[in-house]
Amino acid sequence: MESGLIKEKFNCVRCKEPCSIIKQKKSSNGSIWRCKKCSAEKSIRVGSWFSCSKLNLQKILRLTWDLITGAKTCDIEQKSSFSSATLADWRHFIHKQVLDHVELTSSKIGGVGKVVEADESKFGKRYHRGHYVEGQWVFGGVEHNSGKLFLAAVHN
Ligand SMILES: [Zn+2]
Repeated sequence: MESGLIKEKFNCVRCKEPCSIIKQKKSSNGSIWRCKKCSAEKSIRVGSWFSCSKLNLQKILRLTWDLITGAKTCDIEQKSSFSSATLADWRHFIHKQVLDHVELTSSKIGGVGKVVEADESKFGKRYHRGHYVEGQWVFGGVEHNSGKLFLAAVHN
């Protein structure tokens, strides 16, 4: 709730009155929303990061962390019971959420009175497990003072 993964407030779908969070052992989430007026109940997952899954919250948090921090599918499969289809679905979902966030929060850099210093660099060129990994050319720029930046993959 503090991180915004679960709603802080929820209004009853029947009577629109505010609901309270009630601890409930039989619920797989440990708590539910309950209407103060009509006692209607709703999952605390409604409208949250967790709403699209039946996995328990701790598993989703762990999986989200693993995927965001770049863990490999085979390593996640080894330490968890997720199928590769579940992992692919979650990887796709998180990728889309990150792209949506970047798109919504992006802004233009530079302009009158601003200085943007640009350069190119090759990322990821290295030896990995005895194999040479080619890497990717990236062109980017950083705006002085604000630290805002852009990065673009250069394919050719
Ligand atoms: Zn109600």
